[in-house]
Amino acid sequence: EDSAPRPGEKKVVAVVGGGLVGALNACFFAKRGFQVEVYETREDIRCANVVRGRSINLALSHRGRQALKHVGMEEKIVSKGIPMNARMIHALSGKQSPIPYGKKGQYILSVDRANLNKELLTEAETYPNTKLNFDHKLQDWSAETGLMTFARPDGSKTQVRADLIVGCDGAFSAVRKQFLRRSRFNYSQTYIPHGYMELTMPPKHGEFAMKPNYLHIWPRNTFMMIALPNLDKTFTCTLFMPFEEFEKITTGDEVIEFFQKYFPDAIPLIGADALKRDYFRLPAQAMVSVKCSPYHIGDKCVLMGDAAHAVVPFYGQGMNAGFEDCIVFDEIMNRFNEDFGAVLPEYTRVRVPDDHAIADLAMYNYVEMRAHVNSKWFIFRKHVDNLLHLLMPKTIIPLYTMVTFTRTRYHVAVERWHWQDKVINRGLLAGAVGAVFGGSYLLVKNPPNINKLAVAAEKIWNKLAALNTP
Ligand code: FAD
Repeated sequence: EDSAPRPGEKKVVAVVGGGLVGALNACFFAKRGFQVEVYETREDIRCANVVRGRSINLALSHRGRQALKHVGMEEKIVSKGIPMNARMIHALSGKQSPIPYGKKGQYILSVDRANLNKELLTEAETYPNTKLNFDHKLQDWSAETGLMTFARPDGSKTQVRADLIVGCDGAFSAVRKQFLRRSRFNYSQTYIPHGYMELTMPPKHGEFAMKPNYLHIWPRNTFMMIALPNLDKTFTCTLFMPFEEFEKITTGDEVIEFFQKYFPDAIPLIGADALKRDYFRLPAQAMVSVKCSPYHIGDKCVLMGDAAHAVVPFYGQGMNAGFEDCIVFDEIMNRFNEDFGAVLPEYTRVRVPDDHAIADLAMYNYVEMRAHVNSKWFIFRKHVDNLLHLLMPKTIIPLYTMVTFTRTRYHVAVERWHWQDKVINRGLLAGAVGAVFGGSYLLVKNPPNINKLAVAAEKIWNKLAALNTP
């Protein structure tokens, strides 16, 4: 096979990987009129019985939605998502406290990964200039010629040429392997000590077993569990824990003992028998963070999505960042008139700092979500940030809001966050000093009723404590 364009024909774009980012990207390129060929290792997941993959559901937020909107898919996907307006923190005692994600009306959406992927593939197929090639596993390709070699399930090989190769083949990208052989390519990968395991919480009397419009979190310092709702009224619970802790638990009774100690309220909801069984169904899965640069080779190849930047899942931004990659690329295509020789380097220049920033933020949140939420200073600061945002919505914007509900460039969000942090901490210090002096003066002038003061202070403190936030 050789699909090089004849004069006057649109160029051929090969999208390697028909996962979330690849399928969406195919739509972006098809919309521009390119001849789009998608190559995917797996069989067509729309026909397969069992879809193996990563997390069952994921959180879709503003950046991802904007990208879907670009190809006319936003409503279709949002209508099948479940809004999560707040986190719901489960204390060891079983007490639940909600913490909103943003202002009223701001929410993230729990969407089904398999359904999202299927819908995107179906959408890509509606373009007559797009072809989906399943059961095609990229083995090797040449940066000089653009010639790709695919392995087929029957053991045969197929060779195909394209004008542009778009690597959307995930964290263990085969396209990226060619980059690694080249000089001046920066690459780092880090496995975190934690693994994850998914458990299902069934409906209770035909209804959700917990409040559905929340992302439930059980923070336990060195580990945590979260749960996202599904359309079938189940929750998918994900336990994040160091591998060595997972391995310490070897019998059903030990699973129950562990849950009794750390997540007692979840046992009756998941069911003791199911828990004993499901814990051993699959081993805990690893999580990797990958950073690299540049994202392109000449005018021939570009990496997007996890192939360019796998991030740990603690900011809920992996897919959202990958979807935003597609918009950013598209904007640059407009600016440079689809000239790959100019577009690709510009894409690297613009996007690397942002994708690196979200990789760092996700790693930061890895600690914040399970540990900091239990710190009183942290809770207090979150409350102060939210209050200041309310008073000065343009000056102080919480980091989570910038990342989740805006398209502020990730690296700009980080810079702004550091600046705000400095200003707020200085302000608090100045305020505290002022309060001490002012307070002393007033105390000397007219001694207050100490009991009343203590009651008021306690009330304020309790309000703040209820606002702990991951
Ligand atoms: P993938 O989804 O990995 O797709 C890659 C595709 O390429 C696959 O279909 C694969 O079969 C194919 N492929 C691989 N190798 C080849 C080859 N050699 N030839 C041809 N095809 C190939 N992100 C969020 O935004 N929100 C969340 O809440 C969230 N939660 C997560 C929870 C967990 C536990 C994990 C692990 C991740 C989470 N993510 C989340 C991240 C998100 O899953 C990824 O960022 C997203 O799947 C990336 O999409 P992708 O298309 O780049 O890669």
